[in-house]
Amino acid sequence: MKNEYSIFELLKTKPVGTSMTLSGWVRTFRSNRFIALNDGSTAKNLQCVVDFESFDESLLKRITTGACIRVSGKIAESLGKGQPIELMVESLEILGDSDPEKYPLQPKKHSLEFLREIAHLRSRTTTFGAIFRVRHHLAYAIHQYFNENGFFYVHTPVITGSDAEGAGELFNVSVLDKKNIPFTDSGEVDYSRDFFGKEANLTVSGQLEAELLALGLGKVYTFGPTFRAENSNTARHLAEFWMIEPEMAFYDLRENMDLAESFLKYIIRYTLTHAEEDLSILGQRLTDEDASKPVDQRAMPLLDKLKFVTENDFQRITYTEAIDILLNSPFHKKKKFNFPVEWGMDLQSEHERYLVEKHFKSPVIITDYPAAIKAFYMRLNDDEKTVRAMDILVPGIGEIVGGSQREERYDVLLDRIKQFGIAEESLWWYLDTRRFGTCPHSGFGLGFERLVQFVTGMSNIRDVIPFPRTPGNCEF
Ligand code: ATP
Ligand code: MN
Repeated sequence: MKNEYSIFELLKTKPVGTSMTLSGWVRTFRSNRFIALNDGSTAKNLQCVVDFESFDESLLKRITTGACIRVSGKIAESLGKGQPIELMVESLEILGDSDPEKYPLQPKKHSLEFLREIAHLRSRTTTFGAIFRVRHHLAYAIHQYFNENGFFYVHTPVITGSDAEGAGELFNVSVLDKKNIPFTDSGEVDYSRDFFGKEANLTVSGQLEAELLALGLGKVYTFGPTFRAENSNTARHLAEFWMIEPEMAFYDLRENMDLAESFLKYIIRYTLTHAEEDLSILGQRLTDEDASKPVDQRAMPLLDKLKFVTENDFQRITYTEAIDILLNSPFHKKKKFNFPVEWGMDLQSEHERYLVEKHFKSPVIITDYPAAIKAFYMRLNDDEKTVRAMDILVPGIGEIVGGSQREERYDVLLDRIKQFGIAEESLWWYLDTRRFGTCPHSGFGLGFERLVQFVTGMSNIRDVIPFPRTPGNCEF
């Protein structure tokens, strides 16, 4: 039953003269003669030629856009211009009909918004086929990079009992009877009677657990789902997203940055070689979309942008330098920023975009942020005002990576935990690693969908994950 050859392989090897059977979905059927057949293995269709006189009229009628068919025949050199080879159909079977009056995907251009509403079918379009194949190649390249560089793939829990990560709003995991919630004397929900005997949530990051493993295994990484109940509804936030989090013993901040930069370049280079056709399609889509914009708002063509990233050094500046650049910028002088610029503030996305898109026109790594705006586990600098954090910002997206050298000194870490108002007991296991054989170590988190956005040029994060979870949306 399964296809012996994929259309991807056929178009590559062009086995003229070979007989075969092949299944796929009909993209179009024109002149009662040419079927454009797609099997998902490539954006390209295989042209299947039917001699309509040898087939029943009633069968031909069922060859409609969206229908699933199985064809047998011989591969021949194509006389037409559009394709090198075609399949001369000898027999044809309908596996699944598709009523052309009702099938939502017509052979025309649909808006991305409309396609989001039919996410169960959108992987059958050229654009989404390309995006999801690129997504696959990126995931594969990530594992390959780490494997080649001596990292171990570890699995951190999805359900966590620690609420101290502080990276975002939590999704509570509870089996308490909603109609009869137990309360403590002080009027709080009594989680001691819940499934785990304590409050539990979906993880916002696997970092703390990855750190524990790095302090035993040396170099590790996680690649798993994370959950944040952020009600922000932006084009770059999901409630459920995938994150890659390497943690490395004995790495300082500079080594952490070097790793992140070489890692990003490697996976983008890998995808440029293994998904060139899909990236060209997505590049063309972006160019078409940009054509309606004023010239100064158009993005660099996708493939040029990706090559630029693989071939050039990322800019590296401190937070303090970034603030100076912003303060001296014509944008600031003309009061074009919505949020005021001053040392100590969190960089808003308008500031990040100014730095990467207008000032540097390249990926930028910003380090040494004010301690007050970063997490408790980042290593405090000697100035006691800044921490060894590093964020990587890229054009079009803003922050794609957030990382740091971790605080390995027990006393300093304990101070920071207290300053953040976190209950020390809840992190006893984390603190233990600083009491027993602590060492300098570092790591970062890469949001997988932000990476896929950057590489595919898609402006909305809902379009780079098959079934997005966002506020008010949990369909499919
Ligand atoms: P942002 O400021 O953009 O909300 P963050 O500072 O909350 O990001 P971190 O906690 O450092 O992000 O998470 C590490 C990485 O995870 C980010 O660099 C980003 O790539 C990704 N990320 C964070 N939140 C989301 C989200 N809601 N949806 C998708 N990716 C996310
Ligand atoms: Mn956030």
